[in-house]
Amino acid sequence: MTASVEPSLSPLSRTTEGENLLARVSHENPVFDFHGDEPHANSDYQEKLNRLRAAVLGANDGIVSVAATVVGVAGATTSTSAIGIAAAAAVVGGSISMALGEFVSVSSQVDSQHALIEKERHELATDPDSELAELAGLLTQRGLSKHTALQAARELTAKDALGSHLDFELGIDAEDIPSPWTAALASAGAFLLGALLPTLLILLLPVSIRIPATFIGVLVALAITGALGAKWGGSPRYVRAAIRVVVGGGLALAATYLIGMLLGTAIA
Ligand SMILES: [Zn+2]
Repeated sequence: MTASVEPSLSPLSRTTEGENLLARVSHENPVFDFHGDEPHANSDYQEKLNRLRAAVLGANDGIVSVAATVVGVAGATTSTSAIGIAAAAAVVGGSISMALGEFVSVSSQVDSQHALIEKERHELATDPDSELAELAGLLTQRGLSKHTALQAARELTAKDALGSHLDFELGIDAEDIPSPWTAALASAGAFLLGALLPTLLILLLPVSIRIPATFIGVLVALAITGALGAKWGGSPRYVRAAIRVVVGGGLALAATYLIGMLLGTAIA
């Protein structure tokens, strides 16, 4: 019974409309050049890794900037209260600055996503044929034949046109747009956590060993966060990354310590 073939799966190319659309399903469509290097794969796993990596980078900032501040002040004075005040100022200022930076960055990312969603919505409303051809073209890039791609594009369009375009064309999940507030809080929290280490080391250890001990503790922590950040960022060279972070952090601490010592003697 060949007549039982589902009518909706009948070859699209038999209709002129199908022919026209198929002709437009092309790899030369300019949209492909534009979106070619955008990361389309945003799996939950990758998303989690990105968050972990952002947290590690925030902690790194907290460790380096607060350690550099307290070591600098400790180079100038042995007064624990002066060092404590400097640490508090560095921790508060740093975490607010981190939160603000993250808030601004994620807000503009969200703004641009909303603009893209609006643009897509408008295009779907005003030029549905081109949008269908575009979606089918994206599906051929994923390995579907032109006929199958056009059929699939039609079904996706019937079900959720906007969602399909956001997903296949822009890699945006409309259900999962980041919150600037959450990102800001996470960033400030990571900074605070990192800042805790040099603050506790310099304030709790005996005066005689607190500067070298803070240096060592900070460099060890940086080696760990540097390696983790690179690993979660997908880099196989995490030893190299750890060395970079340790050298950079060591330079920052040495520089502020020297300046603190020079200023301390100059003023005293
Ligand atoms: Zn589109």
